[in-house]
Amino acid sequence: MTEATLTHPGQQPGITPAIHYQVTMPQPESHLFEVTLYLKDYILPILDLKLPVWTPGSYLVREYAKHLQDFSAQSGEELLPWRKLGKNHWQIETFALDKKPDSTIEVRYRMFAAELSVRTNHLDATHGYFNGAALFFRILGVEQPIYVTIMPPHPEWRVTTPLPALPEQPNTFLASDYDTLVDSPFEIGCHQLYQFAALGKSHELAIWGQGNADPTRMIPDIQKIIQVEAELFGGLPYDRYLFLLHLSSQGNGGLEHKYACSLNYPRFGFRAQDKYGRFMQLVAHEFFHLWNVKRIRPQALEVFDYDQENYTASLWFSEGTTSYYDLVIPFRAGIYDVKFFLNGLGKEITRLQTTPGRRVQPLSESSFDAWIKLYRPDANSGNSQISYYLKGELVSLLLDLLIRERHGNACSLDNVMLTMWQQFGQAEIGFTPEQLLDVIESVAGMNLADFFKLYIYGTEELPFDQYLEPFGLRVVSDLDEESVPHLGIKVQAENGREFIKFVEAGAPASAAGIDPGDELLAIDGIRVTAQQLSDRLKDYQPGDTIQMAVFHQDELRYLPITLSAPSPSRYQVVPLEQASSVQQQNFAGWLGVSLTTI
Ligand SMILES: [Zn+2]
Repeated sequence: MTEATLTHPGQQPGITPAIHYQVTMPQPESHLFEVTLYLKDYILPILDLKLPVWTPGSYLVREYAKHLQDFSAQSGEELLPWRKLGKNHWQIETFALDKKPDSTIEVRYRMFAAELSVRTNHLDATHGYFNGAALFFRILGVEQPIYVTIMPPHPEWRVTTPLPALPEQPNTFLASDYDTLVDSPFEIGCHQLYQFAALGKSHELAIWGQGNADPTRMIPDIQKIIQVEAELFGGLPYDRYLFLLHLSSQGNGGLEHKYACSLNYPRFGFRAQDKYGRFMQLVAHEFFHLWNVKRIRPQALEVFDYDQENYTASLWFSEGTTSYYDLVIPFRAGIYDVKFFLNGLGKEITRLQTTPGRRVQPLSESSFDAWIKLYRPDANSGNSQISYYLKGELVSLLLDLLIRERHGNACSLDNVMLTMWQQFGQAEIGFTPEQLLDVIESVAGMNLADFFKLYIYGTEELPFDQYLEPFGLRVVSDLDEESVPHLGIKVQAENGREFIKFVEAGAPASAAGIDPGDELLAIDGIRVTAQQLSDRLKDYQPGDTIQMAVFHQDELRYLPITLSAPSPSRYQVVPLEQASSVQQQNFAGWLGVSLTTI
């Protein structure tokens, strides 16, 4: 259908939308979505349109407006003048309009869509995927239901979205408001579509892309995850939920919505047990968000400001606690065993303890500064930051253990989640950091001001052993006589050359003047690669001085570096050699299996 022959669906009998978006993609390989906004009965002299600069769930200003082109506005045959008032702000002069009762403003534009991620838009010859924030304008001063009609380029392409479809209007959907439109991703193409039930509610799994995903194995496991999470929160707060899965070469990510989640996972990441386990963690994580963050929201995210950053110190709870549960839930669902679970904890403790930034940036600040730090990593990030996902997950572990130990497993972090749901989530009233502390304290039955001060607002090391010991566990590191003297760099090969990617602040390499970006050439006159580095250092002792040859800003340099004592590179959670019966009981109460099984 060409533009000239478009019939505005608002003129068809049956519906009279005030705001109607039509999305076509006549040449999907051009990566251009063609969008027309029909606005009926608009009576003000000026029409302001704004495109969000970010989308909820992904805390980075992404400037979606940079992909917009070919903007125009008209009413009937008459072109309407317009101008830009800001990077994401278009203003149309509508005062010249002859105000007939059926006058309709048409705004047309194209949106370039070639970034395949869960929070951007992607259109090519195989499919179209978009997020509302990256495609649809917000109309200032107009809060009404929004109709969306998709016109696929091929008859065999189908449209899948969590939005309800209008009966008798092909591929037309209704969003009750703009927030709902932004919260409803669209998948358009020949994706596989599976329908299944869980707890009497209908669910869909849409899969785009080729790979070794096996729905006959995946769907029963997703059903188990739904069941376990519903049990925790006391039911499912929806009638229909969509899992949207993109299989790609190396993507790994998810974006939560109220009635859906978008997942991106490596196309061949489903056979090996560890990879499959991590996929089910991704499912558990995004699904958990339908409560924690989509409905149990920090007050700062209660009303989204689509024009700028929305700051909150509580992402450690929204993302970190969700990350703790993404490890717990598949274990409870029987998808992996206790060894996989404890192994997973060990890996996360390793990531925390090998990130020097944990001693620099408090967890609350990591959350607040997500916009400029976590989503914008650079060569110094490891020295100055700690992820609120990672540390938030491990702080949640400590809180869970603390509550369980005090209450003999009769209470746990589950009760915190349930209380947060009942007090804030169900009614969708945003919570403040103080209210969150209150709930955790009331469940724990103790004052946690010091805990918060040290581990959330401060940078004190997390005392894992103190919290694990009552459960018959401890953390061990890999330090032994074989350990390598410490240099403090990470090296990566690129096109046959070895580049230093990270230099640990205060470590020997940093003190000697090595910088990220330097090209590593040799140690003591002999070429060394990233792969050989660790082995080569085994020939030295702490206190020895090596001479390292590097290209630094194209200059050949020989730098003497005095190696220091080894530092651990791996941590594991292991059972105590002799656990008491109370410890064994605590462990079994926490994880439902005997300590002797690990
Ligand atoms: Zn998340």
